[in-house]
Amino acid sequence: MVFKTISSDLMLQAHQKSKTGQLPQYIPCLSEADPQWLAVAFLSIDNQLQIKGDSQQIFPLMSVIKPFVLLYLLEHLGEKLVFERVGNKSSDLPFNSLSQLEIDDGFPRNPMINSGAITLASFLIGKNSKLRAENICFWLNQKSNSKLFLSETVLNSVRSLSNPLNQAIVEKLTAKGVLENPELALDTYNHICCLSGTVIDLVRLGLLLVKGSDYVLLKHYQIVSEIMTTSGLYEASADFAAKVGLPTKSGVSGAVLSLIPEQGAIATYSPPLNSQGNSVAGLWLVEQLNI
Ligand code: GLN
Repeated sequence: MVFKTISSDLMLQAHQKSKTGQLPQYIPCLSEADPQWLAVAFLSIDNQLQIKGDSQQIFPLMSVIKPFVLLYLLEHLGEKLVFERVGNKSSDLPFNSLSQLEIDDGFPRNPMINSGAITLASFLIGKNSKLRAENICFWLNQKSNSKLFLSETVLNSVRSLSNPLNQAIVEKLTAKGVLENPELALDTYNHICCLSGTVIDLVRLGLLLVKGSDYVLLKHYQIVSEIMTTSGLYEASADFAAKVGLPTKSGVSGAVLSLIPEQGAIATYSPPLNSQGNSVAGLWLVEQLNI
């Protein structure tokens, strides 16, 4: 297939858009990112790659890892066990909302919000948080031919400030009997959010969800892609689905991954975020490139 060309003019406009966004302050290394960084990668199912901008810039995936944790656990535990632990309904409140979990009586509404992702992180395989993150990283790199790695620098930065909302979510999940080992669950979650790479790595990961792999069940990547559509951008998901219609996941680092069913994937990186924690320029670019 022939993708729309990522023109210099489009990149210039995206830069302009990004100026309305803000950098997150609760993870120091993300607050120190250059707001001007902008990168886009397009990869088609026949492996044609188009890149533009700061495509060598490395960033942590943060919440963009969540669909891949779901995929990994669907493959390793199966659908029944996974959806006994988290729901598949869209959420109406921010990604780290304790109220959402309280409304749902301690049952995480979906795997794209923090309560669901922390719960799923508690089922990852490995003796400790680091080995768990390395196992899923190895599995994903193998399946998608990407070069993700665990960034200790980002992890130290995440750990340097307390995160009272994630802590409160963990306490609620523990009180409800969802988490057996709260410290391990949260530490594993923090590790997997620090898996890092470039837009090229991210777009390769995305293609895994479009094309599958010989070893990944078709049904599983369909489930993941549906949940990305309904919940990948948190409370902004429904509007984006109506307007753009592509399964999409964002991360607080400014990463965005969109799937173009049967055709390919788009990955973008631009740190400034809108009020819902989604990259301003990233969402704008996906919308433009999908026209
Ligand atoms: N580690 C981040 C957090 O829990 C990830 C959130 C995100 O990317 N939206 O706050």
